[in-house]
Amino acid sequence: MMNLESLTEKFESIYSAKPQAISSAPGRVNIIGEFTDYNDGFVLPCALEFRTVVLFRTREDGLVNVHSLDYPSEKESFSVNEQVSSGSSQWGNYIRAIAFVLKRAGYSLKGMDILIDSNVPQGAGLSSSAALEVAVCGAFNHVGKLGLAPQEIAVFGQQAENDFMDCQCGIMDQLISAKGDQGKALLIDCQSLETEDISIPEDLSVVIVNSNYPRKLVDSEYNQRRQDCEQAAAKLGVKTLRDATIEQLQNIETDLTLNQFKRARHVISENNRVIKATSALQRNDIDTLRELMSASHYSLKHDFEVTVPATDGLVDICQTVLGNNGAVRMTGGGFGGAIVCLCRSEDVLKVQSAVDENYEKQFNLKASVYVCKAGDGLKITELK
Ligand code: ADP
Ligand code: MG
Repeated sequence: MMNLESLTEKFESIYSAKPQAISSAPGRVNIIGEFTDYNDGFVLPCALEFRTVVLFRTREDGLVNVHSLDYPSEKESFSVNEQVSSGSSQWGNYIRAIAFVLKRAGYSLKGMDILIDSNVPQGAGLSSSAALEVAVCGAFNHVGKLGLAPQEIAVFGQQAENDFMDCQCGIMDQLISAKGDQGKALLIDCQSLETEDISIPEDLSVVIVNSNYPRKLVDSEYNQRRQDCEQAAAKLGVKTLRDATIEQLQNIETDLTLNQFKRARHVISENNRVIKATSALQRNDIDTLRELMSASHYSLKHDFEVTVPATDGLVDICQTVLGNNGAVRMTGGGFGGAIVCLCRSEDVLKVQSAVDENYEKQFNLKASVYVCKAGDGLKITELK
């Protein structure tokens, strides 16, 4: 990623004017609580130090001009004074999506010149899309003096994905990107959107390993899981699986298809694990974290059926080398993507070399290892 001075120069060379402020927002990793967000359940993600940075200045003519250093041959341009619809640039549509949902909610928007830079890996399950949405929404909020709180910015980011980008994600990615705090994970109640900061012990490292397994059929499988969960909730007579217990589920097992039963069992048990993992993290209790994260992975593999041999294999490799000193599971949307390890700082190198030694040999793929710290959420900085 470029430093601020070069970025500012780049902005000036494109727009012949100085940027007025920077909005930046992070990617995230989910420690535990997978596929629970759209079931109104609990999740425990943390923001990363990888960030998407948006330099911007107000325009009085309503035009939104956008360049991204990651897509140097494309530029995006549209007017907030006209109906906002999809354009031809895939990434540019994320910016349009934010303008669309804000306008739909009745806000009157200002135009902007925008330059985007980022070190959030794209498509790696670290939610570069949420980082972009939250940073861009933060910029619209700033220039238009919309007065949006971080939680509202997150909800608009989610609406942008749901209603414009056709991705039916839950609220987790945007909310942690908007509200993350350095050194802390965030316990989110996806029903009330209440959040609680949970300190990550100093001696605990967060290591993310991306399988780089080519993800296929992700959207159709994701939507199928969503449907199974909704139908199970309907048969249970609850609005969402958040309000169901394992006992209730067992009582109506014969009324459900096998898939509905297994998907629901994952979600209900995962919610319980998030609550237990939160207090284990607060106690720095790696044993309990290991049990809970292993159980989460097992449930994602056998009940939710979203793991692949490559991510199962990575979990095995990392758990084997860490033994009792680490907690490991798949993280994110599944069907490939990444795994997350919590371990003591002194064991990080062991994870790295175990992955180097074994993963490519077994799966003919190269993994990417990211050693991370919990970073800050959305930040706006005025430039002089
Ligand atoms: P993930 O959120 O897991 O990284 P997605 O497919 O949801 O993967 O989002 C990736 C998309 O987000 C990219 O294809 C691009 O359209 C957009 N995007 C992310 N970061 C940037 C960036 N720095 N500049 C422009 N577009 C970006
Ligand atoms: Mg995304």
